[in-house]
Amino acid sequence: MKPSPCDSHQETISALTDDGLPFPEALSGHIASCPECAAFARICDGDLDALSAPLPSAGDDLRQRVLVLPAGRPARPRLPIAPLAAAAGILLAAGWWLTRPVPETPRPAPVVQNPTTEDATEIAALKEDFDQALGHLAEPLSVFSSLARP
Ligand SMILES: [Zn+2]
Repeated sequence: MKPSPCDSHQETISALTDDGLPFPEALSGHIASCPECAAFARICDGDLDALSAPLPSAGDDLRQRVLVLPAGRPARPRLPIAPLAAAAGILLAAGWWLTRPVPETPRPAPVVQNPTTEDATEIAALKEDFDQALGHLAEPLSVFSSLARP
C-alpha cells in the first residue's frame, strides 16, 4: 500500500506537536480541509475524544474499485485435502497393522547344548527358585480359591 499524502502530513503534525511548534500555513490549510488529518491533529494535541470521531469517507476512488470487483459468491475456505488424506492413510495403515492376524507359532523351548557343570548348577538353582516361588504362590491361590467357592 503506497503512502498517502496524509501520511506525510500526519508525520509532520506529530513531530511539530511533540516539539510544541506551530503548524505551517500549508499544513493548517490541509488540516482545515481534511477530516482525517484534523482528527489526527486533535489526538496529537491530547483530545482523545477525537479517537471516537467517525471515520472519514473512503473516497470515490476506493468506492469505484470495490464496485468493479467481480460479483459472485465469496470463495469458500478450502479444506486441506492432501494433509487430511495423508493422515487418513496413516491411520488406516496403523489400524491394519495393529489388528492384522498374527499366526501363532509356538516358541521353541530353550535348549542348552553341551551344558557345562556350571550351567547345570545354575539351571538347578533356577529350578529350585522357581519351585520355591510356586510354593509361595500356592498359598494365596488356595485362599483366593476358598473365597471364590461358595
Ligand atoms: Zn489529510
